[in-house]
Amino acid sequence: MDKQWKANVYENNRGVFAVFPELCKGCGLCIEKCPTHVIEWSQDLAFNGYPTVEPRIEGCIVCGTCQTVCPDAAIAIYRHDGKNPPAAEPRTTAAPSR
Ligand code: SF4
Ligand code: SF4
Repeated sequence: MDKQWKANVYENNRGVFAVFPELCKGCGLCIEKCPTHVIEWSQDLAFNGYPTVEPRIEGCIVCGTCQTVCPDAAIAIYRHDGKNPPAAEPRTTAAPSR
């Protein structure tokens, strides 16, 4: 059976922002890179005990930057116009070859 990740879901008239606290490590990269500065720390906790994030959803333009930069694929953005940003690709931690 596939694992069902818990999602905190926020929606405005442009689309949906979903964050998965069980994947988020609270690194803050999405907060740093959001062009409209609408992501902030949440009262909800990430898997490691750090705060996860949440958007002030009314100001989110569903650009997908947060989804793209998150190193752990912990954010998913869905646009109501169907023009969804590219899906996040989890990075590997493999050591570089010599
Ligand atoms: S989709 Fe864009 S505007 Fe919305 S929270 Fe993510 S980076 Fe910010
Ligand atoms: S970039 Fe990803 S892992 Fe880092 S705080 Fe944002 S959602 Fe969490």
